[in-house]
Amino acid sequence: MKKITIAIDGFSSTGKSTLAKQLAKHLGYVFVDTGAMYRAVTLYAIQNNYINLEYFDTESLKADLTKIKLEFQFNPELGFAEMYLNNKNVEKEIRTIEVSNFVSKVAEISQVRAKLVEQQKEMGKNKAIVMDGRDIGTVVFPDAELKIFMTASAQTRAQRRFDEMVSKGESISFEEVLKNVQERDYIDTHREDSPLVMAHNAIEIDNSNITREEQFQIVLDLVNNI
Ligand code: C5P
Repeated sequence: MKKITIAIDGFSSTGKSTLAKQLAKHLGYVFVDTGAMYRAVTLYAIQNNYINLEYFDTESLKADLTKIKLEFQFNPELGFAEMYLNNKNVEKEIRTIEVSNFVSKVAEISQVRAKLVEQQKEMGKNKAIVMDGRDIGTVVFPDAELKIFMTASAQTRAQRRFDEMVSKGESISFEEVLKNVQERDYIDTHREDSPLVMAHNAIEIDNSNITREEQFQIVLDLVNNI
């Protein structure tokens, strides 16, 4: 079968990574969660005290970009690749609400985007890849054979993220999660560099009222019709 590039974009907590993982597993493709890369850079900024609630030292972060090494390493037990920041597995640390609260600010910086986009393009140069993010169909792989744009209401998305965090033992309120989802939507769609927009040739899927399996089947049909 012809190897293709699948770009999955959309709002926070629409289940992009879940769908991307399902597809990659089924097709034997590489799966890349680009949000994890922006999260890892954010974790680096937090660890170095470059960002907190009061200020953000963007110049120091930009100056340090060459020191930030991001890698995905496949974990056979989990069945997907985990994020490593400077040789340390940070998969768990990058999923906290603290990182979520700052990540969209870090993702606004053009120099950060340029570095990550370059690495992402390199990962996809042989196709057979499913990549999810915000700018995959528009900036990273504008020529992708299949582009999916995922949406769902903010309430639905916050509820999913809240359930996921509670199941991982995080103590957090639904309101805090909803606020984070809404803030990230706003920043992601309004930033100057590569804002979240649907590519003109993307297929929109609103999954507020469909199951994961139904969604997977819809996309698999699209893949088989290419
Ligand atoms: O996908 P996830 O929610 O983990 O992404 C975290 C944040 O990283 C997003 O809210 C967005 O600000 C940023 N991001 C981005 N471009 C991407 C992937 C993520 O700006 N391709």
